[in-house]
Amino acid sequence: MDAYAWMIRFSELVTADAERLTRLDSAIGDGDHGSNLDRGLRAAAEALSKDLPPGKVLITAGRTLVSKTGGASGPLYGTALRRAGKSLGDAAEVGAAELGAALRAALEGVQELGKASEGDKTMVDALAPAVAAFEASAGEGLPAAARAALDAAEKGAEATVPLQARKGRASYLGPRSVGHLDPGAASTVLLFRALADVTDG
Ligand code: ADP
Ligand code: MG
Ligand code: MG
Repeated sequence: MDAYAWMIRFSELVTADAERLTRLDSAIGDGDHGSNLDRGLRAAAEALSKDLPPGKVLITAGRTLVSKTGGASGPLYGTALRRAGKSLGDAAEVGAAELGAALRAALEGVQELGKASEGDKTMVDALAPAVAAFEASAGEGLPAAARAALDAAEKGAEATVPLQARKGRASYLGPRSVGHLDPGAASTVLLFRALADVTDG
């Protein structure tokens, strides 16, 4: 797995979709999710180098996100990537099994920090099913696992629409948060789309 290519692709996809993410956040938040994440990922892309081992790439990206991304999503994505990177350690080669464990560690980090469970209408609603699907398909290899994770992330994000937010800024809206896609779940889909893109043959 080329972690550098993954992070660069994630950054490109967020840049391309920043307006949509911000629009989603305008409906149930403060309208900055796209710009927050775009700023953080551009900084991360600049901080990265191709020569770093995959674990170090993710740790560096995570650390940059924590320091450069505003809002709740910076620390959450930053923690996810740092935990994933730590899990990979110094390995030069990362296969599906190692990445599955790293993604599990990322999810645990997000939940420790944000205290959100599935169904709270957050990025966890995309991340948790994506991690589970990745693990379940890891035996079929990286491209298949990444595609399964993307599919699950998309379904999980879509399933946030009818939910009422119980965590983060959107929860202040109470029942008025119902009927909108969660922006963090939408950006989590892009994380897995990027992974599927860079592992696809
Ligand atoms: P802010 O709400 O501080 O402006 P962003 O707009 O960048 O931050 O990110 C909002 C997204 O962060 C939400 O759509 C949600 O997915 C995610 N989020 C917020 N709080 C939590 C939490 N406690 N746990 C998990 N994800 C959260
Ligand atoms: Mg916001
Ligand atoms: Mg904000």
